[in-house]
Amino acid sequence: MNDNGDNTLQVAAPLSGWCATLDDSPDPVFAGRILGDGVSIDPTDNVVRAPFDAHVLAVPDSRHAVNLRADNGAEFLIHVGIDTVGLGGDGFTAHVKAGDRVARGQELLTFDMDMLLERAASLRTPVILMQNDGFVATIPDRDGPVAAGDPLFTVTPVAPGQAEAGLTLPVSGEEHSRSVTVGLAHGIHARPAALLIESIRGFRAQVVCHAGNKVANARSAVELMALGVGYGQTVTVVATGDDANAAIGAFVPLLEPLEVTPTPRSAPVAEMPAAPEPGTVLRAQAVGAGLAIGTAVRILAWSAAKEGPAGTPDEELQSLDKAKSAVRGFLEGLAASRTGAGRDIAEAHLVLLDDPTIAEDASRRIRQGASAAVAWQQAIARMTEALGQLDDKRLRERVDDLADLNQRVQRALAGEDPGDAIALPQSAAIIAETLLPSQLLEMDRGRIAGICTAGGGTTSHVAILAASMDIPMLVAAGDSVLAIEDDTQLVIDADYGELHIEPDEDQASAFRERQKRDRARSRRERDAALDECITTDGVHIHVCANIASVTDAQSAVQRGADGSGLLRTEFLFMDRDRPPGLQEQVDIYQQISDALDNRLLVVRTLDAGGDKQIAYIDQALEENPALGVRGIRLSLRDRPMFETQLEALMRVRRRSPLRVMVPMVSCIEEVADVRDTIERIGGRQADGRSIRLGIMIETPAAAMIADKLADVVDFFSIGTNDLAQYTLAMDRGEPVLADRLDTLHPAVLMLIGRVAAAASEAGKPVGVCGGAAGDLAAAPLLVGLGIRELSMVTSVIARQKARLREVSAAECEDLARRALDMRSAREVRAMMREFLTARSAA
Ligand code: PEP
Ligand code: MG
Repeated sequence: MNDNGDNTLQVAAPLSGWCATLDDSPDPVFAGRILGDGVSIDPTDNVVRAPFDAHVLAVPDSRHAVNLRADNGAEFLIHVGIDTVGLGGDGFTAHVKAGDRVARGQELLTFDMDMLLERAASLRTPVILMQNDGFVATIPDRDGPVAAGDPLFTVTPVAPGQAEAGLTLPVSGEEHSRSVTVGLAHGIHARPAALLIESIRGFRAQVVCHAGNKVANARSAVELMALGVGYGQTVTVVATGDDANAAIGAFVPLLEPLEVTPTPRSAPVAEMPAAPEPGTVLRAQAVGAGLAIGTAVRILAWSAAKEGPAGTPDEELQSLDKAKSAVRGFLEGLAASRTGAGRDIAEAHLVLLDDPTIAEDASRRIRQGASAAVAWQQAIARMTEALGQLDDKRLRERVDDLADLNQRVQRALAGEDPGDAIALPQSAAIIAETLLPSQLLEMDRGRIAGICTAGGGTTSHVAILAASMDIPMLVAAGDSVLAIEDDTQLVIDADYGELHIEPDEDQASAFRERQKRDRARSRRERDAALDECITTDGVHIHVCANIASVTDAQSAVQRGADGSGLLRTEFLFMDRDRPPGLQEQVDIYQQISDALDNRLLVVRTLDAGGDKQIAYIDQALEENPALGVRGIRLSLRDRPMFETQLEALMRVRRRSPLRVMVPMVSCIEEVADVRDTIERIGGRQADGRSIRLGIMIETPAAAMIADKLADVVDFFSIGTNDLAQYTLAMDRGEPVLADRLDTLHPAVLMLIGRVAAAASEAGKPVGVCGGAAGDLAAAPLLVGLGIRELSMVTSVIARQKARLREVSAAECEDLARRALDMRSAREVRAMMREFLTARSAA
């Protein structure tokens, strides 16, 4: 009884922190109230106190949770953090044990906040009235701070005095029982308990679990958890009632060992969309360029570990070590036999293979009874989940690398050769959901015609690798490609971003002709890469490279770039925990400038935010980051970082003036602010010359007021990737829209034309540094709209130069005029295709 003489229980906050409803919990089991209703507290202190006078029902070995029963019979769970059971007790201290009597406010658990912040998926702590028909919780809507001891919610028995936890009433009918060895890596903890209860919710049978000398009602999460059953222990499930057998059938598999068998490489995928019909053309994002004609070979993902009975922890640790050394040997061999991106990727995998967090996590799981295969898979899965949640697309794409490592180690654990090369037929057109970098590395390059992946992105490691190996590749082609049968004839057209399924004989022979011409032509193009790019009517086009490092700058020069029209400085700021200092920046910009040997260098200031999140930059969570504080908007809010970068750029010594440009400008005040900032910190390069300040035109707003902006800047560079995204209102990272997000849309071309005209009127240079510059179909239109400087990925420079040398600026103008009059990107593409095909046949 409480002071009011009734059985209403006042639940006090067990911790200080930010309190919200369970909807706020990242775990669907808690958010879905499967265990019961309550609140979630994001803690600011590390002591869990009793929220009322109670008996302790259970504290698991992992000490991350506590179950309590209040004096009115209501049962509760306080569960510190999400997925913290996997820490195996590390970082937690329990001050009570099952059976103890505790007074409100008494310390129950303490935890190491710093360690958990680093290792737990979340610290949000659900405080839950366990599902029980005998009680009702009245939970005020809240979203704000609480201090330990503050009232949280009340719990009232439905029929005062009658509430009782315990077994359901006996039921008559058949009795069935089954014994099972628990395969849940952490035993029956809160989440599996909730799912077990869910599994029998629709059955009438009474179900109980026996473990040793304990017995639990299978419909009570508290009792299931209080069994204290761990991985590998035996539970006997007994069900009584007319649907007893079915209830056992639903319940037991959730306790059984994890049994995952590798999917054979060419097994059909469940619920796969229908295969595209012969003659179908699918659009996708192209990586690099080129045309591949080949025979489909599907490389389907493996579903990782197979679980046999685990040996002793020592044996499992030894097997894992042995498997890792086999993989290490394979990767070292790859690193030694490759150059460039291939070597870099093998080396990156070597670092991941010995990552201490993954290693520690896997060994802890083994010590808790898991086999090496399951422990490695789960440790990788945990890291994958963490990376997958990041906003930084490039880090998210590192998930592929982890999947790759998982598979290698699983292969080695299964006694297979981790480097067992995938056998390919001649001219293989590889189809995969996403291909792993080392899978590609170990394939015989001579047999690969091209690659098409259902998912993936153009910045993934495997895409970079394919481009460096000159393999035509398409990504984000959609799941239907996974249904394409092996041996189907495919054409992977990375020039136009198209996958052709079984083209008819006429088309096939046209493709073969084009390929033959392309091969001869690309030899000639490479030979002429260093020559100037001048149209047939004498207009000089500057063909530059988009770069992000000193190595990029060196390779750009070797492959014919007239300079760099875009140095993306983000690379310097990423994958670290604080921004680079002044001298570090000066050194790297100087090295890049030296590598370009006084050619054009346009440095873009940090373009963070949007899809380029940088961990140490304190940014509020935005509902729509692409429209949020990104590019120059962010730099003007983080002045010290911006000023350091500008100052570093001013210290670069060069013979020709450095061009500095700012991204994502949308109004004139931003430019004025940048100019003032530059003036304030000196405004001049080391040799006394003024910095040339330009802006990227990436927003329709900037394009529309380009004539006004032209008065206050020294040059423009059009970022067509973002300009198309914002003009067409299509997320550039959304694979479903990839085939419609096209710079050749007349609306985007009109904006480009407007910018080019404004620049020309003001006598200021204008370039294009977005993807359209490297697109064979787009470049003549850009020239026709008045653009004279194109900056693109290095691998397409030789080809783009060669193609532009074959056209006249006058015919480009004519094409541009016609394009501006069209109604869709598709119509413009069709016109350009006709033009380019006629050109290449000539
Ligand atoms: C662009 O938007 O076209 C561009 C070059 O910038 P980024 O792709 O880096 O956003
Ligand atoms: Mg951009």
